[in-house]
Amino acid sequence: MVHNEFVQCNACKMKINLRIQIGYFDIPFYVCCPECHSTIHGKVLVKGNKINVENANMIQFSNEEFYSVELSAEFPTRKAIYKKMADIEYSPYIRNHSFYGDPITATIRTQEAMVFANFAQSGLNKMKQNFELFWNDQDKILFTRIENMIKQQSHIPFSEIKNKFDVTIALHQLLLTTTGISVIIGKDSLREYTEIGKLVLGSPNLFIKIDDFIINGEVDFNHIEKKGFKLIELFAKIYEQLIPVIALKNGDFLKNIDKDQYGIMTANFDELTDFYAKSYEWILDNLKIILGLNNIFVRGDSTKCVNEKKYQNFIKESNGNKMKNGYIDETEPFSKPISSLNNRVRNAIQHFDSEIDYETQLITFKDGNKSVDLYLIEFADLCIENFRIMFYILELIYNLRKLDFIQKKIVPSFVVKE
Ligand SMILES: [Zn+2]
Repeated sequence: MVHNEFVQCNACKMKINLRIQIGYFDIPFYVCCPECHSTIHGKVLVKGNKINVENANMIQFSNEEFYSVELSAEFPTRKAIYKKMADIEYSPYIRNHSFYGDPITATIRTQEAMVFANFAQSGLNKMKQNFELFWNDQDKILFTRIENMIKQQSHIPFSEIKNKFDVTIALHQLLLTTTGISVIIGKDSLREYTEIGKLVLGSPNLFIKIDDFIINGEVDFNHIEKKGFKLIELFAKIYEQLIPVIALKNGDFLKNIDKDQYGIMTANFDELTDFYAKSYEWILDNLKIILGLNNIFVRGDSTKCVNEKKYQNFIKESNGNKMKNGYIDETEPFSKPISSLNNRVRNAIQHFDSEIDYETQLITFKDGNKSVDLYLIEFADLCIENFRIMFYILELIYNLRKLDFIQKKIVPSFVVKE
């Protein structure tokens, strides 16, 4: 259902059409007045069909040619244009079908992508509490609580929690399979991360070296996961803006979008760059894990990097240099998932040198003399890539935790049916 509403800029009296695809979620929006260039922002509330708007007033329908902005949380939107009321346009909902080739695929992909948005509203706090109890060793409360939670999940193949190993597996399963996070990561990446993660436990002859690396490399599982969870919460705040990109990305449909004409709603741009910068730093902070594992698996020594480089010198590098300077060989067993990291965009954001044109949705990142232009939808894609890489690193931590338990003689109390 499409609603046409009009707002009038408080400053210059320009009338702007908001063409709203009403869906399941509130729609935060950010519009630049085409006349006086001041910013008009607000939120379309699903409940009661209300619109809150700043720097403009709601007005009655006007018949002239007008500037039109499309708003939708679930689907790609047409970028702002001048149009007449008589100009016929597809609704974002109908148009969305054409990006997928057929309406059924479009519906399924979009619904899958909405699972995490619902989780962010109604399950995230409880999940965080599970992890807080875990990090804080509140085993008695946690084990009973998790037993009750996994009883409701028929795909989790055990029902009793007797020790830390059990609860680690249960928490990992709950986080990946009941939240919509697996949709964001995508089937192929999830399989890849799981397979690489399993390498950690696949070579018992390396266990002592890996455990030494955890201790000497100061790989603090709780600390890494706590910061990771903060990023999941930050991601949840911007997620509604990303739903169309998640949906398109999973079936490789993103390439069907004409990015000059279509984009995603522009809202929370600052929070988007905030997530990008913080998740990037977290990834770079934890690159040492990938490096150490590569060193152990390829050269049998956690301190020996490729090209005769030394692990202790890598640790001293600034985060900006960690992907450069030849420490990481992309062909080594733990490297592949991080090959998409884009350093130039990181630097620009790090120096707050990015600007968005709300009309074209083109973002310019400036890094010294160089500049990179990206459409908002492409930048959203990079944010999702960072989220995926975060889960790759968390998958490694998950497997390192298991190895650490095994070294401490803690083993699962159940037999998992494969
Ligand atoms: Zn204006």
